[in-house]
Amino acid sequence: MRLFLLITCLAFFGCGKDEDVRSSRSLNKYETTKNYFTVSTKLTVEVAYESGQRPYADGSTIGAGIPIWQILDENLNALYQGRAQLPVIVVPKTHAEMKELPVQGKTSWTPEDILKLSEKYRTGRSSATETYFWVVFLDGVFNDGKKDQPSTVGVSLGGTTVVAIFKEVVRQSGMSAAGFVPLFVEQATLVHEIGHALGLVDNGLPMNEAHKDTEGHGAHCNNDKCVMYWLNEGRSDLIQFAIRMNQTGNVVMFDQNCLNDARNF
Ligand SMILES: [Zn+2]
Ligand SMILES: [Zn+2]
Repeated sequence: MRLFLLITCLAFFGCGKDEDVRSSRSLNKYETTKNYFTVSTKLTVEVAYESGQRPYADGSTIGAGIPIWQILDENLNALYQGRAQLPVIVVPKTHAEMKELPVQGKTSWTPEDILKLSEKYRTGRSSATETYFWVVFLDGVFNDGKKDQPSTVGVSLGGTTVVAIFKEVVRQSGMSAAGFVPLFVEQATLVHEIGHALGLVDNGLPMNEAHKDTEGHGAHCNNDKCVMYWLNEGRSDLIQFAIRMNQTGNVVMFDQNCLNDARNF
């Protein structure tokens, strides 16, 4: 069976486009927005990384000693707040809870390459009641099937629970910027990509109120204060996010429209 694989990506340092890519891989029938929000009772984020491309975790905190991965955890929980069924959300916080993979020696990754890697190394398989995301931190850059996209930080492979983060692009976000920015770029990218995978914006989750980007940037939010916004001026947007988080202590990066879509689905 051929399927239509929608690739949603987040690029911080230049323009990029969400790409539609054909794939011959089969989908897991449980990996649907409907299942994530109405059937699944547990949502686990598995994290793997190529040796040398480890995500920020141990020793990286925000505010008063809060582990950096708490940002993803709280954002996922925020989407389910007030719903009849609240899944148990499991997000690793330490390197010990993540899996180190051998160096893959690749300079670029197509969606097919990433899916192949996930087949080889992921351990959890989504079932009716349990959802497993697989997030992998890679060396090299994304290739959309046509050419390399060196500004893409992360991609969500549509119709799957696979997310890839390009660690070197994250690191570059720290150049000539405050030291905390790469930490934040990494978590914001995770929230953004898993947001896509869960169905935002209008990507499985119907909109309560129209708030989808109308300028042709794919499944993104029209609010530049929302993590699902198409970040064409990425770094300054991210610094604003960080300042706001510092001021308010609020780490939820979705705006009310995005939260409402998930909470009212
Ligand atoms: Zn996106
Ligand atoms: Zn939004």
